[in-house]
Amino acid sequence: MTALTDRFGRVHNYLRISVTDRCNLRCLYCMPEEGVAFADASTLLSYDQIVEVVEAGAELGITRLRITGGEPLVRPGLPELIGRLSAISAIEDIALTTNGMLLAPHAEALKAAGLTRVNISLDTLDASRFRLIARRGELKRVLEGVEAAAAAGLTPIKLNCVLLKGINEDEIAAFLRLAYEQPLHVRFIEYMPIGHADDNWKKHYLPLARVHEIAAEQGYKTEPGEAISGNGPSENWRLVGGVGSFGLIHPVSDQFCSQCNRLRLTADGYIKPCLYWVDELDVRPALGDRASMLELYSRAMDLKPESHEMAAKLADGAQSHIPTSRRMSQIGG
Ligand code: SAM
Ligand code: SF4
Repeated sequence: MTALTDRFGRVHNYLRISVTDRCNLRCLYCMPEEGVAFADASTLLSYDQIVEVVEAGAELGITRLRITGGEPLVRPGLPELIGRLSAISAIEDIALTTNGMLLAPHAEALKAAGLTRVNISLDTLDASRFRLIARRGELKRVLEGVEAAAAAGLTPIKLNCVLLKGINEDEIAAFLRLAYEQPLHVRFIEYMPIGHADDNWKKHYLPLARVHEIAAEQGYKTEPGEAISGNGPSENWRLVGGVGSFGLIHPVSDQFCSQCNRLRLTADGYIKPCLYWVDELDVRPALGDRASMLELYSRAMDLKPESHEMAAKLADGAQSHIPTSRRMSQIGG
């Protein structure tokens, strides 16, 4: 048993840190197109405060970090934060999840600061569809970001692709081809009902079993693959004869909560034991007092639920507790 063991025996060594809720895109599954109320900059944890929270976590067994948001690269000075986090001796791995728009100019500095690797969100390979899904930005810049990450050695590169029924479902074959031809790991992700006032979630939710159907239709032979560095809940597959691989993250159709090893720190300073539920713990009262911060992590373990209930939500079943009203961009997906 380590200090970060919850009531269900799950050991936590992974902290996802959101550094901002702001973003330069407005992906339709994540944020409304207009009128997003962002947190006031004064409510965000400073880099000093984030480092303090991580140092306490590292004392308790946190060894792996992911920097996310919102779009983490819109927060100035991110390499400085990465450098400070990588100097914490217990921290073995620091990854970044980004939409890639600002990655090309920063890739080398991030690598030099100690970033290990990146996940780049890419839901379409079509420039005009990119504008439909992300509503802003440009596919070309994301692809330049992928190239720059590879050149900087931020590997293995994972591409996160949220599958949306009726929107990008017809690109599964193209993404599989990409994974066959390029040394990339394409991760297909199920659309999750996080903090949505239910928007169009059910309309666009697509179970990932569809990926295997398309792979078979396209004539690919697939076989279970090994875990890719920092793999988390992804179920990995190799395309026989190809250079890359693909993964399936299916929290709705086949939940993996029994394997959960993660905590989240929101940009405005709350530890969230679970992405799905409302519960969160304010770190601010514990800042400057290591014993209180360690105690806060222990309370997060007590609060950690056994599982989310996205599948029940899909079936219009009752929920046993209150889901969060925060959006993914506010939690740090
Ligand atoms: N802005 C960065 C990006 O897009 O990669 C980091 C933050 S974003 C919230 C993190 C990941 O969450 C992205 O891969 C995004 O596609 C995913 N995401 C956001 N909303 C989601 C939802 N409702 N269901 C599934 N994945 C979602
Ligand atoms: Fe921004 Fe990432 Fe949300 Fe898209 S998924 S709106 S890029 S935070």
